[in-house]
Formats: sequence, C-alpha cells, structure tokens
Amino acid sequence: MGSSPHDSYPPGLSSEEQEYLLTNLKDWSIAHGLAVRPAPSFVQPDQDPAGVLAATAPVTLFPSLFPQNCFEDGLAIQTAYNELYSAIARDEDWLKGIVEELVDIDEFVGKLWQTHLAVKKEGYVQDLSLGLFRSDYMVHTDQTSASSSGLKQVEFNTIASSFGGLSSQVSRLHKYLLSIDAYPSSATSIIKEEALRQSKSASSLAQGLAAAHRAYGPSKTGRSLCVLFVVQNPERNVFDQRHLEYALFEENDVRAFRLPFEQTLLHTKLDQERTLLYTPPSSPSTTYEVTTIYFRAGYSPDDYPEEKEWDARLHLEKSRAIKCPSVLTHLAGCKKVQQVLATPHSPHLKRFLPDDKVASKVLSTFAPIYPLDDTEAGQEAKKLAQNAESASRYVLKPQREGGGNNVYRKAIPAFLEKLPQTHWPAYILMEMIEPPPLTNAIFRNGELQRGGVIGELGVYGVCLWRNGADNKDAGQILANWEAGYLLRTKGDQSEEGGVAAGFGAVDSVCLV
Ligand code: ADP
Ligand code: MG
Ligand code: MG
Repeated sequence: MGSSPHDSYPPGLSSEEQEYLLTNLKDWSIAHGLAVRPAPSFVQPDQDPAGVLAATAPVTLFPSLFPQNCFEDGLAIQTAYNELYSAIARDEDWLKGIVEELVDIDEFVGKLWQTHLAVKKEGYVQDLSLGLFRSDYMVHTDQTSASSSGLKQVEFNTIASSFGGLSSQVSRLHKYLLSIDAYPSSATSIIKEEALRQSKSASSLAQGLAAAHRAYGPSKTGRSLCVLFVVQNPERNVFDQRHLEYALFEENDVRAFRLPFEQTLLHTKLDQERTLLYTPPSSPSTTYEVTTIYFRAGYSPDDYPEEKEWDARLHLEKSRAIKCPSVLTHLAGCKKVQQVLATPHSPHLKRFLPDDKVASKVLSTFAPIYPLDDTEAGQEAKKLAQNAESASRYVLKPQREGGGNNVYRKAIPAFLEKLPQTHWPAYILMEMIEPPPLTNAIFRNGELQRGGVIGELGVYGVCLWRNGADNKDAGQILANWEAGYLLRTKGDQSEEGGVAAGFGAVDSVCLV
C-alpha cells in the first residue's frame, strides 16, 4: 500500500521549532486581529476592568488536510444554495406549512412567526432582503451508512453566520507561517503555497452589506446613511465582526454602527414612513438613516430575556431598512426546513430549484434527516432514536442556533424519555456524518493540544433579492455570489464544533 499524506501529517516539531512557530503565531495573531476578548475563565473580569485585553483566537497550528474535490464542490454549489434559501424565504405559504407544525411546541419559533404576522398585518414596506449565509459541511467517508461518501451538509445558517472575519485572517496566518519556514522542511511537500487557499470571506461579506446599502437607494430624510450591526453585549467574538465593519468602511466607504440588541428601542426610531433612524448615544445631535440591519444577535431565546426584546425585533422588522436576515429568512434556516428538503423523492427541492441538474447537485450534499412526528418516516425514526444501539449513529437537533443545543448518539434515548411525546416533533433526527480521521494541534487559551480532529467546512454566500407577490420584479435576485470559506476544527472527542462555544478552532485548508 502506498503511503498517504495523512500518515505523516502534521509533522512533529522539535522544541526549538515549536517555540519558533508559536512565537510567530501568537504575535501575528494579535498584530492582525486574529483575536477574541479573553474568556472569563482565562482572564477574570476584575483583572481587566477597562476591557483592553485581547487573546489570540483558538487556531490550528497547521492548515488541515482537506480533499480538493470536496472543497471545490462546496464552493461551486453555494450560489445554488443561495437561490434555494432565498426562494424558501420568499415563499410564505410553504414556510407556514413548516412553521405550523412547530408553533405550539416551540415557543421561540412561534414568537418569530407572530413577529412576521404582525408586520404583515401593517404591510411590509421593504421588499429587498439580504442573506449572508453559511452552508456547513463535513466530508463523509463511512461506506456502511445510508449516505454516499463526499461532502455532506451539517446545516445551513441564515442568521449571524460568524467567523467570516477571522477566517480570512487564519488563512493568511498559515500562509505566513509557511513563508517564514515555521513548518519543518519534512512537511513542505504537503504544505505548499499551491495547496493553501486564502478565504475572501471578510471582504466578500462586507461587499454583500455594501450591495444592500446601495440598493436601498437615496436617503428619504436627507440624512447620512448607515448600516447597523445589531449585536450581543458583551461579545467575545467582537473582532470577527469588526473585520467586516472595517472592510465595509475601508473598501466600500460605508459607515456602520454597533448597537447592542437590548438598547434598540433606546437609540432607534421609526418615522411616519417607517424609515429607521438611529441616533448614536455618543453624538445625540446627529441622526442617521439606517439602510441595512445586520443581525449578529437575536438568533437565540437567550437574546430575548423580556418582552421588550420581542418589541425591538418587531420594531426593526417593521422598518424600511433592509434586514439581514428578515424574520422569514431567519425561519428558513430552521433545522426542520433542512429535514423537509432532505425527504427522499419529495417535490420540495424542485419547487425552489427548477433546474434539475442544479437540484440534483444540491441533493447529493444532503445527509439522511428524519422527522420525529406521526408520519411513516417519523414512526421509523422514533424507533431508531429510542434504541441505544441504533441511536448511536444519529444526532438529535432542536430548532436552535449557536451551538450547544444538540443531543448526540447514545444520549438520545434517555433525553427523549424525559421529553413529553407531544414535543418530539420540535426535533429532527440526523444521521451522523463520519469524517476521515485527521490529526492536528489546536492552540487555545495558551495551551497546545495535539490529537485526532474533525474538520467542518463552511461556505459563505451573499444573496440580495426582492420579495413581494404583486410586484413585477418579485423574485428578482440582485446579487448572488459565493463569499469565501471557513474551516473549523475540533478535537474528535467533542461532538460539538463551536469555536465560540469553546470546542473548536479556526483553521484553513491544505488541499490534497
Ligand atoms: P448549530 O446551528 O447550533 O451550529 P449544528 O447543526 O451545526 O447546530 O450542530 C452543531 C455541531 O454538531 C456541528 O458543528 C457539528 O460539529 C456537530 N454536528 C451536527 N450535525 C452533525 C452530523 N450530522 N454529523 C456529525 N456532526 C454533526
Ligand atoms: Mg447554525
Ligand atoms: Mg453549526
């Protein structure tokens, strides 16, 4: 048998080599904003009362090996996914069918749907919608599963798709480490410049925001225009967001402000025409007209501790500003939508992607996903999920975002046992994607961990489209492009992969 690159990757390092690599990695990261605010467990808040400290973001020492054909497949299919999810977000009747099964058993989904209905009652005044999407995949290799091998979708994110800022930086970091000979010469037959890929995500996502900003048109109030980043407070991943903001300003000349979600009603107003006006607390005499609202908050029930946050979401949704995402686009990202699309022989994919070739390419990236309802497939899935042996090939997911919400493998039967049967349909059961074994070293919070890892490829997409039914331009797509990639790598002992949630690291590809 021939030796595979996987056998000797990544290379071992002498202590001097490791020291050289880490010193460069740490300094480059801070100097280039490949950084996060330190975790409270790492730097206690009373040690940094002025909030001036940053820490290196969790990163891999080496770019992880990734099959070139899978990488290219993922990038190539993104514009089709953009088209698919924009079509779903436009199809209120279809989404209603999905949401109806959830509203009574998932309060969060119910509240989002009510928000949409409340705006609909008054009439939407903005028919443009922006999506900054991220489609996440793993490479599936297990020949014994029901799923063919190749790139399989983990999930599709329609709200607050993160790490586009840091991803551009980590691919630069790895390239820099290569160019300063921080990788030992024994590895340079694999880690070479042609095998690395720069992610254009920061710049490309910012261009998406700029496209919406321009499409909004001239000010209706004679004021300066701006984009509003609606954010969580505090936010450890703030530099990731700042990279987009700075690219928006430096490359597109568009001004943006950060507004903590819970302060929305304090600093924004709607005029008679429902134009969204923002008055920065730092300069109360200047009011801006908001063209585009970019949500990096509002995706989790934790962001809505009181009714006033729902009032804030409604207030923003009602406005004339372009929402990234609208409530309907947010709902299109429900795991339930992904499950319904993946139903074998269903007419749904064809409804949204009329071109058969495009639809079949998208279909080939679906892993098996089942409902836990009273349908035949649902009954079958319930049996699989209740048995420890069969459940060990599955993950159970609620309609949530942001990591830390899933139930994995053998833990599923006990979890379901405690859950009233009426609530089971709020979850979907997905076959675990089984990626090839890989090794890498992760540097997080000043500690180095070497071992087996699992990689998750995210592909960003920008889509700007026109909603509305009675408009001759309804359905028009004004922008649709693939917007770079993210590789996240986690230890293979952890089922979850979130970098912010504390499990993973940002990474870049070394194509093989
Ligand atoms: P979230 O929206 O909370 O990020 P995900 O569906 O992405 O939810 O699941 C979180 C993590 O769980 C993923 O990043 C991945 O590491 C793991 N995961 C989810 N689905 C699968 C799957 N089918 N196979 C393997 N791992 C999965
Ligand atoms: Mg998600
Ligand atoms: Mg995810």
